[in-house]
Amino acid sequence: MNAYVKRVIESVKLKHGREPEFVQTIEEVLTSLSPVIDAHPEYEKVDLLSRMVEPERMFTFRVVWCDDYGRYHTNLGYRCQFNGAIGPYKGGLRFQANVDPGIIKFLAFEQTFKNALTGMPMGGGKGGSDFDPTGKSDAEILRFCQSFMTALYRYIGPDIDVPAGDMGVSGREIGYLFGQYRRLKGNYENGVLTGKGMSYGGSYTRPEATGFGAVYYLNEVLKHEGESIEGKTIAASGFGNVCWGICMKAAELGAKVVTLSGPDGYVYDPEGVCTKEKIDFLPTMINSRRNRVKDYADKFGCEFYPNEKPWGRKVDIVMPSAMQNDVLIDSAKRIVKNNIKYYIEVANMPTTNDALAYLMEQPGMIVAPSKAVNAGGVTVSAFEMSQNSERLTWTFEEVDQKLKDVMALIHQNSVDAAAEYGLGYNLVAGANIASFKKVADAMMSQGPF
Ligand code: GLU
Repeated sequence: MNAYVKRVIESVKLKHGREPEFVQTIEEVLTSLSPVIDAHPEYEKVDLLSRMVEPERMFTFRVVWCDDYGRYHTNLGYRCQFNGAIGPYKGGLRFQANVDPGIIKFLAFEQTFKNALTGMPMGGGKGGSDFDPTGKSDAEILRFCQSFMTALYRYIGPDIDVPAGDMGVSGREIGYLFGQYRRLKGNYENGVLTGKGMSYGGSYTRPEATGFGAVYYLNEVLKHEGESIEGKTIAASGFGNVCWGICMKAAELGAKVVTLSGPDGYVYDPEGVCTKEKIDFLPTMINSRRNRVKDYADKFGCEFYPNEKPWGRKVDIVMPSAMQNDVLIDSAKRIVKNNIKYYIEVANMPTTNDALAYLMEQPGMIVAPSKAVNAGGVTVSAFEMSQNSERLTWTFEEVDQKLKDVMALIHQNSVDAAAEYGLGYNLVAGANIASFKKVADAMMSQGPF
């Protein structure tokens, strides 16, 4: 490994030891940049990497809200404005009990690279709260969102920082957040948030975009291997918005998702989550806020495996689409034992570094990284921003076609970047290198600050 890269990783480990997810992502990304740093000593000359691994700013704020019984609660809110070299900070908000500074920081770092990969002018950011939406009423969600935005609104804006959804934040929350922003600012700036409803500046396909984009990317990989998606079986995890989009697009193209998972376990549906009734049931489960996937098994009479993950299933394609560190080394070994050729990450950092390295060293195995595969979501967010500033609405077909084109381009740019450094068909390194170069060039052009 390049000595400078090694030094920067060591220093991040020292400084951020209490933020394991952040250290994990830095180690993964920087390691694959080693050949680029070898070839470009100018980066070390201005110590660019040390700057790239620190957010431009990150802040914490308190969010106080009142539940339906009149009791007050204090949660922590965060926003990390990681890198604004190529555009306004852009990235989602995550509401989940386990949210902490390390999780927000890793997500914001990944977002910086992902956004660069889309080719759109967006910097990277992320935010959220340790607020747990499970079991909360609509009125409680509303009060929480209003309080959250009251603390955040001064620091965001269409040209400053544009939040969106992530886990625990979807159309409903974005609506409440936008309503509060508008009330506080007295200004109609709908470009301040993406993932909005269609009646107030949303974009067609935004809810489906991450899942659709992931399947479009998968299609590019299959094309590269001379295979077709038709008839393929997919093991996915999660049952949220992203998984829903995957099920829908896979079904449309003749493939089937046979597993879903939740914090309670996983379900196996050999018929596939293919019918309209089954696909429509996913948003119903999300909106129930029960956070249980067993509801699907009960409704459609399929097998439910409590407290297990779906990674032991024999399928054609694995798509972890739930959350970080969902696939540990044991699961990676089971995937390899089952001779599965396609490991397509969808959720942000779903694989631990040792599991990822193990999968990547298997001959014949193809690993696609989440920052490329799930970039369709933020791509359509960029389209939403364009539509807002142009004050018009593109059709569903227009957005969908543009999304397809961007996913193909992301795949191709990753292939080219890896080839340039003699790494072969290495989509993981390719995505890291392509996005690094874009952000690095912008930072270098703007002066080494
Ligand atoms: N949270 C999503 C992501 O991880 C979407 C971000 C956005 O649309 O800004 O990319």
